[in-house]
Amino acid sequence: MDTNISTTTRMPAIFFGHGSPMNAIKTSRYSEAWGRFGAGTPKPKAILMVSAHWYTRGTAVTAMQQPRTIHDFGGFPQALFDVEYPAPGSPALAARVTGLLKPVQVQPDNEWGLDHGTWGVLAHAYPQADVPVVQLSIDGTRPPQYHYDLARHLAPLRDEGVLIAASGNVVHNLRNLRRDGINAPYDWAENFERAVREHAQSGEHQALIDYESFGEAARLSVPTPEHYLPLLYVLAQQQKDDTMSFPTAGIDMGSISMLSVAIGA
Ligand code: ZN
Repeated sequence: MDTNISTTTRMPAIFFGHGSPMNAIKTSRYSEAWGRFGAGTPKPKAILMVSAHWYTRGTAVTAMQQPRTIHDFGGFPQALFDVEYPAPGSPALAARVTGLLKPVQVQPDNEWGLDHGTWGVLAHAYPQADVPVVQLSIDGTRPPQYHYDLARHLAPLRDEGVLIAASGNVVHNLRNLRRDGINAPYDWAENFERAVREHAQSGEHQALIDYESFGEAARLSVPTPEHYLPLLYVLAQQQKDDTMSFPTAGIDMGSISMLSVAIGA
């Protein structure tokens, strides 16, 4: 990041509900909405992505010049394994993130790359793969409040031309997935997605940090936190004058929320 160049545009921030890995190569109302977001907002100088699929002990940031495309799934068609998303990395952005998050120790990483939580959505939002992408891992040893507070430190990036993006699913229960083609949402999944949307819309971030207080619907919707926590990284970017919108929503396969949340878009 060249911090000597002043930009007048504050970039949006967006949480993508990524759903099945197949969404990476399918055209759907979700992928079309991701594409509209990319085409309809200023082109970022770089993207900082927080993906559910990089859940670590401690915090790391990808620091390589050219991240590899990681096919971190099994049992899908060869066409999905054949996808390459050759966006460059940005060691400069990795260094900037490391500085912003001090005193938290951020490990520079040269092993990871772009996982499917990242390239599955960016392949639609930025199909040219010409915007540098850096991933920030999620420290799985920390509670939700920690992640929200940490993410607040990333706020200056939006004024430096960086798109802060996150990828997960606010409802993510694979045990109860409906693969029978009926696809009808569980009540608890719909109720939890609606609660997230309403609290986000009204700016009640604390309720969304304390999502476990939603009880049974939360326990079923968020059996493990890694797909939910990325949402907090985007909510934390909301400034007083920022709009909020929901480019995609709805429950897929019974128990996966495709809700996306865009701030300042
Ligand atoms: Zn996922």
